[in-house]
Amino acid sequence: MNILGIVVFSIFFGVMCSKMGPAGKPLLDFFEALHVATMKLTMLVIWYSPIGIIFLVATKLIEMEDPSVVFIQLGYYMLTVLAGLAVHGFIVLPLVYFVAARRNPFVFMYNMLKALLTAWGTASSSATLPVTMECLEHRNKIDIRVAKFVAPIGATVNMDGTALYEAVAAIFIAQVNGITLNVGEVITISLTATAAAIGAAGIPSAGLVTMAIVLTAVGLPIDDIRLIYAIDWFLDRFRTAINVLGDSYGAGIVEKLSQADLARFDQEHGLDADNEISVEETIPEMEKENGGINNPTFTKF
Ligand code: ASP
Repeated sequence: MNILGIVVFSIFFGVMCSKMGPAGKPLLDFFEALHVATMKLTMLVIWYSPIGIIFLVATKLIEMEDPSVVFIQLGYYMLTVLAGLAVHGFIVLPLVYFVAARRNPFVFMYNMLKALLTAWGTASSSATLPVTMECLEHRNKIDIRVAKFVAPIGATVNMDGTALYEAVAAIFIAQVNGITLNVGEVITISLTATAAAIGAAGIPSAGLVTMAIVLTAVGLPIDDIRLIYAIDWFLDRFRTAINVLGDSYGAGIVEKLSQADLARFDQEHGLDADNEISVEETIPEMEKENGGINNPTFTKF
């Protein structure tokens, strides 16, 4: 179960593939096709998963001496995850945004409400991506070049909510098993949870799958993921909303930090403030490309 090793290997392998240029294209196509096939298979499994979950949870319940104790523990676990996400979403992220961008973080958050609700409803940052970009561009007036670059990367690799949740879940599983973690193990959990969250896809319950990385890192039983399986659909919605919020604040900060570069680029390329080629610039450009204003094709165009 050396999942972390596989993740690191895959990252370097991917970098090498992209560096190979046209020679690496068949390999890239192969992995694209493999990805699509795997996703289709996963969707099939997801449809059947409720039946599997019933049996998994039932086995665990029968094994328990006093299920009410575990239900209370699960309640505290849920509260801890929700409280952690609330602190991160309403205090830490707005503070980071305020310090870096010097703008009101709560107005920014309010403008992202449609994306946050979509994230909550779909439990998928990838499915929310179009709404995230729309809110960033139209409501928060983030430069479309920044939104188009940062939001997709964020939806793939930046998952603050998932990292936080995975760390809490691992500590919960340790406590249920009566294992006391030392400081080193808690640090290991935090680091691997961050790495595992980077590896998680922006789809429902992806964080639950990468939980295996965190549990293996500190030698906790992977089987106990079934304990938190039944309530994951609920927690997933909240952590996905925080993931999307983190991506959005990220885009806001990147825009603020690259304002000077964007303005310089616009000036050098004769673009106006809305990133559209200015009218004065367009006509000579088109004339040059189409052989002058008297060219029949150009006139027709
Ligand atoms: N559902 C989350 C997302 O799409 C990933 C996860 O934590 O399961 O961002």
